[in-house]
Amino acid sequence: MTRANPEQSFGANPKEVRDTNHYQEEYVKSFVEKWDDLIDWDQRWKSEGDFFIELLRSRGVKRVLDVACGTGFHSVRLLSAGFDVTSADGSPEMLYKAFNNARNRGHLLRTVQADWRWLNRTVHEQFDAVICLGNSFTHLFAEHDRRKALAEFYATLNHDGILVLDQRNYDSILDQGFSSKHKYYYCGEDVIAEPEHMDEGLARFRYTFPDNSIFHLNMFPLRRKYARRLMHEVGFQHVETYGDFKGTFDANDPDFLVHVAEKE
Ligand code: SAM
Repeated sequence: MTRANPEQSFGANPKEVRDTNHYQEEYVKSFVEKWDDLIDWDQRWKSEGDFFIELLRSRGVKRVLDVACGTGFHSVRLLSAGFDVTSADGSPEMLYKAFNNARNRGHLLRTVQADWRWLNRTVHEQFDAVICLGNSFTHLFAEHDRRKALAEFYATLNHDGILVLDQRNYDSILDQGFSSKHKYYYCGEDVIAEPEHMDEGLARFRYTFPDNSIFHLNMFPLRRKYARRLMHEVGFQHVETYGDFKGTFDANDPDFLVHVAEKE
C-alpha cells in the first residue's frame, strides 16, 4: 500500500495547485532526504557522462552559478572538474543538504539562498555560465515569473556568458502520452517517477519510493518552442537545444531537453 507524505500539502484539490511559490512547500525535509535516492548520483553521473563539463569547457567557462543546486549534484561535479562554482537555491532544505553532500565529498560549497525572480538582490557577481538543471525551471507557473527569472539569469552573466537550462520533453508527454520506455536519467533504480496528471497548464508527477512512500511535484509543462522563444525574447541571441544530450533528435524521442542560450 502506498502512503502520501503528510508533510507535503497540496490541499483538497492538488490539480489546482499551480503556483510558482509552492515549490517551497513541495521540497519538505523528508522529500529532500530521499531526493538523492531519487536522483542516484552514480547512475546519473554515468548516464549524463561529461556532457556538461565538455560543454562548459568548450565555451571557455570558468565561473559557474548553479541556480537550482538542489542537493548539489552538478555543483559537486563541476567543482571536482575544477570550475569555480557558486550554488544557489530558493529552498534552505536543499542548500543544507547540498552543503553536507559536498562536504562529505571534500568540497566546501559556496551557497546562496535566492529565489530566481530576485536573484540579483543577493548575487552581485558576474558569471561565465548559469546552469538551471534537473527540470527545475518548470516550477515557474506564471509567464511573468519565467520572464523575470530569465532576465535575472541574463543580468548575472558576463557579456559572452551562457545559460544552460534543461527540462523534460513535455511536448512528447502532452502529445504522445507517457511512455515508460524512457529511462529517466536522474532516477534511482527503485524509484518510480511518473506523471499523475497532465494538461497544458500542469504536469503533476508522482514519485514512489521503495518503502511505498509517495511524494508529488506540480510543475508547468513547458513546450520546447515556447521555452526557446522566451529565451530569445529576454535577449539571448542564439539558443541551441539538445535532446538527451544529442544535437540531432526526433522531436518526440528524447526524455530530456537541454537548452544552451548564448548572450552574445
Ligand atoms: N538541480 C537539482 C538536480 O538536478 O538535482 C535540483 C532539481 S529540483 C527538481 C528543483 C530545484 O529548484 C529545487 O531545489 C527547488 O528548491 C529549486 N527551485 C524551484 N523554484 C525555484 C525558484 N523560484 N527560485 C529558486 N529555486 C527554485
